[in-house]
Amino acid sequence: MSDTVPNPLPPGGARTNLWLESRYRKLRRGLPQTIFYCPKCKGDRRRRQGCEPCGGFGKLTRESVQELIGRRLLPTMQAKEGRFHGAGREDIDVLMLGHGRPFIYEVVGARNPDIDLEALRLEIVARAEGAIELQPFVRVSKQRVAYWKETHFDKIYRAEVAIDGVVAPERLAAAREFAGKIVQRTPQRVAHRRADLDRERSLRVLDLTPGNEGALTLRVVCQHGTYVKEWISGDEGRTEPSLTALLGVGCRCAVLDVEEILTDDIEGPRLPKEPAPKPES
Ligand SMILES: [Zn+2]
Repeated sequence: MSDTVPNPLPPGGARTNLWLESRYRKLRRGLPQTIFYCPKCKGDRRRRQGCEPCGGFGKLTRESVQELIGRRLLPTMQAKEGRFHGAGREDIDVLMLGHGRPFIYEVVGARNPDIDLEALRLEIVARAEGAIELQPFVRVSKQRVAYWKETHFDKIYRAEVAIDGVVAPERLAAAREFAGKIVQRTPQRVAHRRADLDRERSLRVLDLTPGNEGALTLRVVCQHGTYVKEWISGDEGRTEPSLTALLGVGCRCAVLDVEEILTDDIEGPRLPKEPAPKPES
């Protein structure tokens, strides 16, 4: 190779991996957290040809939080690949509000890692056109991925609840005071991919207010892993007690948002601490 021909890549061409921590707010429904590959062809280049569920696209949505970040970040850093590690995830139709959800974006094989991260963040947010907002990126060590994967946090949810009838005022007042344990058998909608078992979770109602046309506005704080949609509906008796049981009329979650993830640095209502597990004797 001639010395006089300019190399299109930076000198050295060494590649490096890095981990960027932030929190995202998701302000558009229908946006998944990570790439939503077609369940049939899994996005495989060959198998997706003529695939019916995805129409050959390989994915079931055009975008995700991961892609809105990666499509600006990866070319700027001249990186091979990006991996998204969220501290849990919300359903595709659920907004992520408050201070947002912590995540780490892992950049694999970056040739140009030393960029202005704040300028990049502002560009990502501007191009996302209101779908997401991000807190400033912080470079962290790989160990932070395990921290966010293994640490669980209580959450505040806000829901619009559709009801099948008229609620007696005394039952509404009692449901508004609910705080305690619930038992949830694995919901029917996830039973195909999760073990079928009973889980005990803590939940406290913060607010339950009549809204438009008989609907109710609900706010709850609950333990990690609580299935809030099923707590509202009762999931045909698989969650007990449920809002349906407390109110004595059928309830359905029409709209759901995560209002806050109560990480240690965020102020908000707390559930009673779980007693430490007894050492085995
Ligand atoms: Zn497909």
